[in-house]
Amino acid sequence: MVFSVENETHKMVAAIQNGNITEQYECLLQVCENPVCTCNIVRLSFSPYGQKDEKSLISPYKVSIDFSQQILDYPDEEYLTEENRDFAELLIGGMDDDDFGFLWGEYYTIKSQFTVEASDDSIEARFDYREIEENGLLAAYDAVLPYDLSLWISINGENRLVLDQYCVLPDCTCTDTHLSIMIPGEYEDPGEELYFITLDYRKKKWGKLEGGTDSVDAKTVRSAVEEIPDLYNLLLHRHMRLRNIYFHCKSRHYTPSPQAHSPETGRNDP
Ligand SMILES: [Zn+2]
Ligand SMILES: [Zn+2]
Repeated sequence: MVFSVENETHKMVAAIQNGNITEQYECLLQVCENPVCTCNIVRLSFSPYGQKDEKSLISPYKVSIDFSQQILDYPDEEYLTEENRDFAELLIGGMDDDDFGFLWGEYYTIKSQFTVEASDDSIEARFDYREIEENGLLAAYDAVLPYDLSLWISINGENRLVLDQYCVLPDCTCTDTHLSIMIPGEYEDPGEELYFITLDYRKKKWGKLEGGTDSVDAKTVRSAVEEIPDLYNLLLHRHMRLRNIYFHCKSRHYTPSPQAHSPETGRNDP
């Protein structure tokens, strides 16, 4: 593995094999600050480890990596020196799955922080406004805020992801959530649905389980989901945040389909 984090300094370091030599670098990692962008790209800069002599500072190598596709994001950028491009090739050539997983973890942590800090009115999430307004389509929390806390549970020893979906109509006061229990996929892929259950989180009233088996019935699923700390309050907060975000996005981006207007009065007034 190329990347590691030093125990004492918490510095991110890279050990890069160049021929017979292992070169050590200190790394800085950046990700785009948009909490809802799922570009899966990290920007890294590499300085020789422990470089202290300010005068002869070598400008750091810049490498941008798409960790989900495991490719360089800018192999052909013109502003990069050939040396920098060689470095990038050498780096990615030496990376293994654990390295890409490591970058994903760092990216996720930073994006989560951005998600927590972002105000509801600043988030530019994507919604299907017409389907929501006209057909009451629900919005999945993870689809709107992909880097917020995910809901994990364990059923018969297997890790499962819970996708909570809500009505986001600003004037509606319903307190229902639809819960899909998933076999998780990779990165932002929500995976495959195993079970489905509805819940009124205010009344703590659970609906019928779909997709249950002999070994997993409604009771199993309910008690697994109830293991999530402070579940009912958490769902309330997630619902409110989603509805707020929707309200702000809708006011910026959605114009209802034109409806028949009553004739304007006053048009013929002198
Ligand atoms: Zn991005
Ligand atoms: Zn509703």
